[in-house]
Amino acid sequence: MSESPIFVNNATVAKYLTPEIATEAVETVFIELYRQNAQNFPVVRERIESQDAVFGIKSGVLGTSELGLKAGGYWPGNAAHGLENHQSSVILLNPDTGQISAVVEGGLITALRTAAASAISIARFARQDASTLAMIGAGGQAPYQLDAALRAHPFQTVLAWNRSPEKLATLEAVAKRHDVAFQAPGLEASVRKADVIITILSSHEPLIKADWVAPGTHLACMGTDTIGKQEVEPALFARSQIFTDEIAQSIKIGEAQHAVQAGLISTNIIAHIGAVVSSDHAGRISDEEITLFDGTGVALQDIVCARAVLKASSAEGDAN
Ligand code: NAD
Repeated sequence: MSESPIFVNNATVAKYLTPEIATEAVETVFIELYRQNAQNFPVVRERIESQDAVFGIKSGVLGTSELGLKAGGYWPGNAAHGLENHQSSVILLNPDTGQISAVVEGGLITALRTAAASAISIARFARQDASTLAMIGAGGQAPYQLDAALRAHPFQTVLAWNRSPEKLATLEAVAKRHDVAFQAPGLEASVRKADVIITILSSHEPLIKADWVAPGTHLACMGTDTIGKQEVEPALFARSQIFTDEIAQSIKIGEAQHAVQAGLISTNIIAHIGAVVSSDHAGRISDEEITLFDGTGVALQDIVCARAVLKASSAEGDAN
């Protein structure tokens, strides 16, 4: 018998997807991908010429419990109509039958699960004495990234840079809420002084130079999720211990694509963050090494978060 699919909007996601629930969901996905109990399917990413838009589909299956996809992308004309340029929807399917069970608005889920992913890397890889966080980028994702990072580790100072400095106010407000000092000393100085760096740009060039990064730094490179995007100089990969959420994606569409293409690293040195979360891998081995998390974003992160929202909102009679 088929039941009507449930629709869950961003307001319901905001009510039920706490940072704790997002973290638990993303850690589960990291572990299950590492243990090969889950499959992440190849990403579809195409241009829609008529709207100058980019459309993508990410999908995956987790054991016998989850099957689904996230469809969406970037429509640059939306802002002129008072809409977000980034739009996405998460579709949950029954893994036994393929029937649809829910459609969940994807914008807020994306922001919270991506923030949870980089915060998990910070909790695992930042030096215990790390006190300064550099935020490189101040677009839509950045305030969520900063909020999750400040929850994950007791930073004392946030240094932030964005191509358009007026956007930094959103990050300053987050730092203020956490009672953490906030400065904007420029790109190079932010990188040089940081113990932890989050990059969350839609850049196609390596703005962060390898020799600016001090020994002992942890980087969460979160912006590169497409062929051609790039945030850091590939030489940095040759100096770092590298982790990712999904190795095939890291090599193809993640930040590692450039270091692999340049022959600077072999693909077998990229480790799965799930190995660290499940305690099969030690993670950081010294206070001097640089650790780099190449967070490419997998649909199962959206799917497991969406499922958690669906369960919690249904239990409260809030889903429709
Ligand atoms: P946004 O459009 O709101 O912000 C883009 C940011 O990139 C801004 O800070 C902008 O100033 C900066 N930027 C763009 N081009 C630049 C350039 N050439 N030089 C310097 N800065 C530049 O986007 P967003 O929603 O904040 O997403 C940021 C990036 O993260 C995007 O590339 C997006 O695709 C990616 N993303 C990744 C994941 C993941 O799971 N890894 C999830 C969501 C978004």
